[in-house]
Amino acid sequence: MVFLKWLALILMALVLGSVGVYLMQPSMDEVGIDYENPYQGSYEKKSGDRASVVTVKWFGVSTLLIDDGETQLLIDGYFSRPGLLDVALKRPISPELDTIARVVDRFGMDRVAAVMPVHSHFDHALDSGEVAKFTGALLLGSQSTANIGRSAKLPESQIGIVDVDKIYNFGQFKVTFYASEHAPLGSNSGIDGVISEPFEIPADYTAWQLGQAYSIVIEHPSGVMLVEGSAGFVAGALGDLAVDAVFLGVGGLRDLPRDYQQEYIYEKVVKTNPNNVYIIHHDDMFDTLGKVDQSKLVLSFDSTFAFELQQLVLPANLKQLRYGEAISISR
Ligand SMILES: [Zn+2]
Repeated sequence: MVFLKWLALILMALVLGSVGVYLMQPSMDEVGIDYENPYQGSYEKKSGDRASVVTVKWFGVSTLLIDDGETQLLIDGYFSRPGLLDVALKRPISPELDTIARVVDRFGMDRVAAVMPVHSHFDHALDSGEVAKFTGALLLGSQSTANIGRSAKLPESQIGIVDVDKIYNFGQFKVTFYASEHAPLGSNSGIDGVISEPFEIPADYTAWQLGQAYSIVIEHPSGVMLVEGSAGFVAGALGDLAVDAVFLGVGGLRDLPRDYQQEYIYEKVVKTNPNNVYIIHHDDMFDTLGKVDQSKLVLSFDSTFAFELQQLVLPANLKQLRYGEAISISR
């Protein structure tokens, strides 16, 4: 009996200890990465200005709304939030149409020219076809992304397949796609193929296969930005491109080897020489839409990794964003 008492005590200590460790994991407010200041002006040109302001709003994972007051562009357009169990148990998932309608309305997405997923996994492209339907935008991505659009019964006239040699003009924006890769993460296994034909939705998350991953470069008279949502790279792919801001996917980066982290930052940040680097895809993608703190089960950042990343991106500033809050991009 004494033995059982000890066993019970030890078990209790272990449980309390784990709960304690869980509660002590840092929130994104505590890791030492500054928030960018919100943009509070209007889109109107001041006399003498060459161009209108470009703002960017982040909606968690790597969904970004880019807007110059005339034209809007959406990266990914992922607003539904299937749960961890849906993925773990391979339950069928589908876009949450109410959620999409609400976000599109609340954030005034009524001038979206294109929806452009960085790759075709569900946490990027699940909603892309429906968002294109809601907004009338062109869905522009890989063959796999095109098949997601077809699965959502998006008209063929609203589907474009990326040509990496082409510059796409949307209003004053010029968009170029560069070949990238997905970070070599365990979570990628079983979903690293292509979507070769339209499929029935709902489907389990493995229906949304990777397809081609892209780095997306968006040029505007006000500034140039690079969006890398897959935390991967093709060495040399960006050539001698220079940008003002990088939206840097850091999903799983903390757990990858130091060499990989350094090479990734070299390709996407050091060579492109931005002023600011904004982290994306560090939030808990299974939390409710609107919450963008990191998962306490799988940390994206502790203060050590935040410090290391800050050193790697120097002389650029490493910053984080708040959900749905506009920041401005400038040269
Ligand atoms: Zn992802």
